[in-house]
Amino acid sequence: MSESKLELLDVKKAFGEVEAVKGVTMTLRKGEFLSLLGPSGCGKSTTLSMIAGLEAPSAGDIRVDGQSVVTVPPQRRRIGLVFQDYAVFSRLSVRSNLAFGLEAQGFPRAERRRRVADIAERLELDKILDRRASRLNMSEMQRVALARVLVTEPQLLLLDEPMSNLDAALRFALRGELKRIQRALGQSVLYVTHDQLEAISMSDRIAVMRLGELQQIASPQEIFSKPVNRFVAEFIGDPPINLIDCRVTRDGARAIAETALHGTLDFGPIEIEEGQHLLGVRPHSLRLTHKPGPNGAETEVKVVENLGAEHVAHVAYGNALVAVTLPPRQVSVGERLHLHLDPSEIHLIEQGSERVVAHSLAKAER
Ligand code: ATP
Repeated sequence: MSESKLELLDVKKAFGEVEAVKGVTMTLRKGEFLSLLGPSGCGKSTTLSMIAGLEAPSAGDIRVDGQSVVTVPPQRRRIGLVFQDYAVFSRLSVRSNLAFGLEAQGFPRAERRRRVADIAERLELDKILDRRASRLNMSEMQRVALARVLVTEPQLLLLDEPMSNLDAALRFALRGELKRIQRALGQSVLYVTHDQLEAISMSDRIAVMRLGELQQIASPQEIFSKPVNRFVAEFIGDPPINLIDCRVTRDGARAIAETALHGTLDFGPIEIEEGQHLLGVRPHSLRLTHKPGPNGAETEVKVVENLGAEHVAHVAYGNALVAVTLPPRQVSVGERLHLHLDPSEIHLIEQGSERVVAHSLAKAER
């Protein structure tokens, strides 16, 4: 297990009646890119502000390299912050922007020069050091925003939705660049975003938050394939996961789910009460074929959505519709086809608690 850079231990923050953060415990490892992901208002920015020292926690502890920092003033925490607007001084040159923080911290001239030259080279800004910031393109602007923080050699870099004002093509390019820089420097990064694509594409691990509480912290792959609850299952994935009604009965120790289309599905010996529950099935885990086969059942295509690179067919499932992703131009509306479940990718979601209690059917069914 790698060493931890940052630890949050049962951290809470209340603003009067509002409990913005309700006891978050998590660890960011050295050199890790960790994303804090969740919808607006879930407490991401408040968590970040407490780590940076801009807000004091109401309870709990925050440790950097094993040392508590809750009483350390922000300027002494050696934590770099980059916000949405990048806060680059447009009237100053790239060089002056990079030197600004070092000057403010009273670094001698020679040290300032050395550090500016070093970070400029690493982030490929060395050829444009004398350019005014107002004349930079967005890629250069992002690198300047990062460089002016990295030049202070922060132990931890905190990024708060840095790309949310940009268009999709630019975000794609800048994501790749940010990840490359983070890897090359081995920088520990906490990245706050409400955009699942950003979190999935850049992170080593993702911490999903909801209503001030941490839901799950795991690799993007695990969050996608083994979500712990309905919220995480629905928040991650595009098109979103299908939720299919089912009725669970018990056959001795085994839980058997009855569906509108696929008959009964055996989840094996798991703990769940009899009654109405939900199946979560991702559109990418479903297949449509012309011929019958294992785990298949006949259905009708009701709608076909064209997403360019792929199509999404909405097919009848009892009284509801489920979405299936497939290559373009394979099916048409009104066609009767066989819908196949992948037995290793069916999540059983307990009604009430909304916990995912199984991620696949029992082995014998697969
Ligand atoms: P967003 O992406 O919209 O900023 P967020 O996930 O970062 O959302 P926070 O900004 O941390 O969420 O807010 C969490 C909750 O705390 C919200 O209900 C918000 O209204 C509340 N909150 C945040 N700051 C304050 C404050 N200074 N005073 C009172 N309530 C606050």
